[in-house]
Amino acid sequence: MNTERLDVHDVAARQLTVIGLRYTSNRRALIEALADATAPLSIPDLMRAMPTASQSSIYRNLTDLTNAGVVARVQGTDEWARFELDDAITGRHHHHIMCESCGEVLDIDIPEVLEHQLDTNLAELAEKSGYKITHHRLDLVGRCSNCQ
Ligand SMILES: [Zn+2]
Ligand SMILES: [Zn+2]
Ligand SMILES: [Zn+2]
Repeated sequence: MNTERLDVHDVAARQLTVIGLRYTSNRRALIEALADATAPLSIPDLMRAMPTASQSSIYRNLTDLTNAGVVARVQGTDEWARFELDDAITGRHHHHIMCESCGEVLDIDIPEVLEHQLDTNLAELAEKSGYKITHHRLDLVGRCSNCQ
């Protein structure tokens, strides 16, 4: 277990405490599964990763962890909900690329230079609407190599 992983659990435990919840072993197992994943996970993915947990307990704990700001729900192109650790927990701002045909969702990092340029240009745009932006969301939607 590395220190980075320890931090994720520390933060998860602290944020659950704030809303009056305990960091139970099931919640910890969910965080482990999401931390190990390289892409957002669906409920069926999580059930495969945690064969002893019931679907209802996975749902319930995901809701609690989402309310605590530890887990983020990722909106894909299909009806499946997908989940990942919140950027605030991992300290890693990132984006998603998704297939409009099969619904696959992958994480992508936009180069720092481009992120900076985006932030600057979007802040100017937002100002025209009287907004100060706090963050941005950007999805790339297309067809994966299998679906082309
Ligand atoms: Zn596809
Ligand atoms: Zn992601
Ligand atoms: Zn970005």
